[in-house]
Amino acid sequence: MNYVFGPVLSRRLGQSLGVDPIPQKTCNWNCVYCQLGRTTPITDRVEEYYPREAIVVEVEEAVRTHGRSKIDWVTFVGSGEPTLHSGIGWMIREVKERTGLPVAVITNGSLLYIPEVRRALLPAGVVLPSLDAGSEALFRKINRPHPEFTFERLVDGLVSFSGEYDGRLWIEVVLISGLNDSEEALRDLAEVISRIGPDQVHLNLPTRPPAESWVEPAPEEGIVRARSILGDVAHVFHGVEGTHELSGFDDVVEAILDIIGRHPMSEKELTAVLEAWFPGEVEDALTDLAASGRAHVVERYGDRFWSGSDQTYSDTPADN
Ligand code: SF4
Repeated sequence: MNYVFGPVLSRRLGQSLGVDPIPQKTCNWNCVYCQLGRTTPITDRVEEYYPREAIVVEVEEAVRTHGRSKIDWVTFVGSGEPTLHSGIGWMIREVKERTGLPVAVITNGSLLYIPEVRRALLPAGVVLPSLDAGSEALFRKINRPHPEFTFERLVDGLVSFSGEYDGRLWIEVVLISGLNDSEEALRDLAEVISRIGPDQVHLNLPTRPPAESWVEPAPEEGIVRARSILGDVAHVFHGVEGTHELSGFDDVVEAILDIIGRHPMSEKELTAVLEAWFPGEVEDALTDLAASGRAHVVERYGDRFWSGSDQTYSDTPADN
């Protein structure tokens, strides 16, 4: 499969079939916590990155292979920002119509200021935009957007979308120690969130390797502060998301590359997932992948994370 992965068991979406409609790390932001590494180069080009029909046909095939009853959501998630694909609205509608399954969209929300993009997402059953800051300065520090984007434009887009959308709107906040977990930052964020009026706010921590090595997850007191300032709309969701369905893979190397090419994973978690499908083969496969340069290890929080070779982190030698 080129554009579809999983289903992956997700705490929020149950069995989620992922759709990745754009090439690796195509994004208009360069978040300090991005688990896919730094955005190089940052882009705001909206285009048909991969053919829309081919993507939807692959979703249909995956649904047939795994069985419709085994999938709760088809989730457009992307190795970057999925709304940069010009066919996002068409794909959402076609996936719903051809599979009968509900669609979720995980987005940074940056393009919601554009009326056509808001209209494109209306048929989705749930939309999960990011909002990590309540001020322009902090937005620039955390999300490091393409120069064309302003915080005001981001918030205006979210407020407009919330007013037009009938589905579930779940805002995702990544809490970073010393950046957006202070009382002042959280009060700013609470003010903006109250203008948007989402159904839920999901508090997350950067648990996979962040692009910048200095990024640390907010400590427990920061999470408690966020819960108390943001109120009952906020729910804590942190830790790494669930297991992978790997029945379509005959080869352990291909299975590893498919997983870590989309989401870096700690060695412990990766080994646990893979041993269930390829007992006794995992350690040698990882050693071979590292030796061949097709995968590499990023160390964070005292843990080893495996990532695809084309992902760049602040401590990747060539980028220091
Ligand atoms: S976290 Fe999402 S929005 Fe931020 S740089 Fe990574 S892909 Fe883009």
